[in-house]
Amino acid sequence: MAENCSHDCSSCSADCSSREKPDLKKKPHAMSDIRRVIAVVSGKGGVGKSMTCALLAAASQSKGYVTAVMDADITGPSIPKMFGMHERARGDELGIYPVVSQNGVQLMSMNLLLENEDDPVIWRGSLISGTVQQFWTDVIWSGVDYMFVDMPPGTGDVPLTLFQSIPLDGIIVVTTPQDLVGMIVSKAVKMAAMMNIPILGIVENMSYLTCPDCGRKINVFGESIADSVALEHGIPLVAKVPIDQTLTMAADKGTIEAEDTNNYLVDFFGKVDELLNEKK
Ligand code: ADP
Repeated sequence: MAENCSHDCSSCSADCSSREKPDLKKKPHAMSDIRRVIAVVSGKGGVGKSMTCALLAAASQSKGYVTAVMDADITGPSIPKMFGMHERARGDELGIYPVVSQNGVQLMSMNLLLENEDDPVIWRGSLISGTVQQFWTDVIWSGVDYMFVDMPPGTGDVPLTLFQSIPLDGIIVVTTPQDLVGMIVSKAVKMAAMMNIPILGIVENMSYLTCPDCGRKINVFGESIADSVALEHGIPLVAKVPIDQTLTMAADKGTIEAEDTNNYLVDFFGKVDELLNEKK
């Protein structure tokens, strides 16, 4: 504690241990009802973070949970396309309404607000963070059991602001075998510890390819180290998703909720669900 402490942190610059930490968390829209929020993160783009987010949402919805996806990857929004949704989101004086997918998943994304979904978003970080925060504060999410947030890649300014402003129940880290897994997981673990948010598991995407002729598993990007990295950090859950053309095609055609794709992360989602239920 600083000498002559007045107990008014707002008028004092001393960095003492008893300094009150400002609560930067934003309140959701007054009409929203959201039970659990899980962020899906990755060290870089292109590793299948949006794919994992979409598959987890499909798994959650197929288990009977009311599910939502907040697409916070503003400059690379691919969620609506994966769910086959191209209509624009509606709003009125009360707020903005999510677009609802065929199976009932509530979706919000920059692409659902743009005049043209091909329009690029060339904004600076602060504007991007502000927009994503509005997805939380101005969108009316109805009776959501699980919300998955497709985070912007990396650990930069925008993801950091979101970690601070949205109350997250857990984080899922997506990597590929060659994606410097150890370093990315260490960074995510440190960031999560700083924010006091548990890491629920690692998903190793594009983990292997199954030979269509002999059924042998081929490690296209090298031997998996996800298990040992998970063990090292004491993260209990690891799911491995193969490279599968049905996934690429489903993402392109907007049928990611289809039966044959939503089986991939059903078990993993089940473990996450169990873990969060134990904690409640
Ligand atoms: P990110 O969100 O990390 O940038 P995406 O989820 O958009 O990555 O995936 C990048 C591309 O790879 C997309 O075209 C997606 O359809 C494809 N993809 C992702 N995971 C797989 C997989 N396991 N098998 C086949 N294609 C995949």
